[in-house]
Order: sequence, then C-alpha cells, then structure tokens
Amino acid sequence: MLVRHHPLQGAPLGTAREIVSFHYGPADTGRKVHVQASLHADELPGMLVAHHLRQRLAALEAAGALRAEFVVVPVANPVGLAQTVLLTNVGRFELGSGENFNRHYPALLAPVLARLEGRLGDDAVRNAQRIREALREVVAALPEPTELASQRKTLLGLACDAEVVLDLHCDCESLLHLYTGTALWPQAEPLARCTGAQVSLLASESGDNPFDETCSQIWWQLEAHFRGRHPVPMGCLSVTLELRGLADVSHPLAQADADALVAFFTHRGLIDGPAPALPPLLNDATPLAGTDVLSAPVSGLVVYRRELGERIGAGEVVFDVVEPISGQVHPVASRTDGLLFARESQRYARAGRALCKIAGREVVRSGKLSSD
Ligand SMILES: [Zn+2]
Repeated sequence: MLVRHHPLQGAPLGTAREIVSFHYGPADTGRKVHVQASLHADELPGMLVAHHLRQRLAALEAAGALRAEFVVVPVANPVGLAQTVLLTNVGRFELGSGENFNRHYPALLAPVLARLEGRLGDDAVRNAQRIREALREVVAALPEPTELASQRKTLLGLACDAEVVLDLHCDCESLLHLYTGTALWPQAEPLARCTGAQVSLLASESGDNPFDETCSQIWWQLEAHFRGRHPVPMGCLSVTLELRGLADVSHPLAQADADALVAFFTHRGLIDGPAPALPPLLNDATPLAGTDVLSAPVSGLVVYRRELGERIGAGEVVFDVVEPISGQVHPVASRTDGLLFARESQRYARAGRALCKIAGREVVRSGKLSSD
C-alpha cells in the first residue's frame, strides 16, 4: 500500500490542506479503480465505507489477490469539511463561491481531441490506452487558480484514467440508489445488484458537469466523434453511489457495503477469487429524466404522507405544506407513477425548495436534471 499526499494550491494564507490517496495492488497492469468518499463533505456514509474497504483491500493485497490498482480517497473534500457555520457543517457548496463541490468539473473533450487526432487505430484496447494517456496529459495541464479548482484537478487526476470510478455520496433520507451514464448500464447493472440499489438513474448529460460524468462522458463523446473510423470502448464505468441518508452511518451498513464493492470488483475480474453469485436486480434502471422532483409551492411546514420505498401513483399526494398562520394546507402530488426513493430531511421549507424524488419510467423533465 502506498500513501500519496496531494497539497492543494490556493489555500488561504497561513493554512494548508491536502488530499490523501491510498493505493493498493499493482500499478503496472493498466487496470485501475478509483473510489472516493464525501465529495459533498457532510455526506458521511461513504467515508465509513472507504474505511472498511481499505481494510479489505489491505488483506487482499497481502494475499496477492488484487489484479488492478485500487485508489481510495476517504476524504475527497477537505475544503468542505472545514466549513462549519454555527455548529453545522456546510459541505455541499463552497462558501466563498457558492459553487456545488460536485459540479463544474472542466469539459475535457476539446483538449483531449486535440491530442488524439492521428493517434488512434483499429484496436479498441490500444485506443483506450491512448485516450487514457491523453486524459492524464490534459488533466495535468489544467490550471488551478483557486483551492476549489486545485481540489477538482487533484481528484480528476487520480480518477481520469481508471476503468471504474465510484463516487460515494448520500441523500438526505434515502434508499440506496445510483446515477450513471445511459451507455454504462450494462457495466453498472452488476454493481446495482451487488449493492442492492433500489433505483438506478441513467442520463447521458445531467447538467453542470458532476464528477462522475466528467470521468465517463468523454468516452461516449469520443465514440461518437470517431464512429466509423476508430473503435472507442466505454472505457470508464463511473457511478455516483448514493449510500442511503445522511444519518445512515453505521458499521453494519458500511461493512456490508464494502463487502458488496469487493463482490462487484471480483465479478469484474479486478480481484482474484470465485465469481460471486449476483443477487437479483431489485428494480429496472429508469431515466433520470423520469424522476419527478416535487417542490414546496409555498413556504411552510412539510408533512410527508408517504414513506420511502412506497410506490406512488400519478396524482397521489406525497406531502402537504402547511401554512400555520393562514391555516391553508397545500397538498403536493406526484406527476408520475414511480418509487419514492429520497426525501429532504428538514421539515420547514421555503417556497420552491425541492423536497422529494420519485423514480418513474416516463420522461417528465428536461434540461438540467441534477439537483442544485
Ligand atoms: Zn452528494
């Protein structure tokens, strides 16, 4: 195991922060896995999963069973972890800029294309190697004028040439679910089965360049660009894994999740061992554009009428927003048939606040699909 320290540039005067990455297994096989936790710094279940995963990887490394380099970043957002306001950690947005820590990663297509023209051939495996080389060069050349930019560059530098990228998040109150690229579903389906994901949300572009999509989208963009000339595989299975809700931090859950990741890696041939029997897929994947996001029509008390995991019919009321001064009650109904899989945990909302998500099969949204 190798520990690498990545000092962040642009830190405030008198301070210094770093990303610490842990590397297990051989680094010379051309195969690499990147797992990072808590990019939204206050989403902590993944941090504990990373803790338990490291112990499993250390044992597997000692047994000589790793067939790839495994990179684990248990604390992906030290900038956000430092933001405590009135006893509460503010880990989703950088206070200085207002930017979401999991948005606005740099678009890589144009500079990667500039490095690839004339370098690809007829062999998809060889092409993937050259694309990964170009990605490493492009990310290494990214500017890092701020600490936030430096953090983004560091994480991308660790992940951009990996064949599997897992970004461990959680929702407020939530079932285990995942987000990935539509073209990646055949590769992601075993992960959904191993982890027991109850919802798998697919999109080719969710908006505002989140981390997972920045790692993977380049592959289907390049495949489209070179189609008919050079074969380009879907060379990066990148997934945002939402490990239930904010409070779901426990050893039993995290140990089971770490075991599920090891089973998936073994299934994929990244770890030696008998192929695990895959559990059944709990629910078919659905388009991210089919997820209805219900918002508060007015400011008031949020009173849920339905529980996580319930099937909701189109037109059925999911929650009320109660205005206790006027006495008015505003029922809010789903626009789709689907599974209620995530809810906001606060019970007071200002008008317009997104409060819950229902995964349906039919498209009900367009444009930017990711939440703020
Ligand atoms: Zn998150």
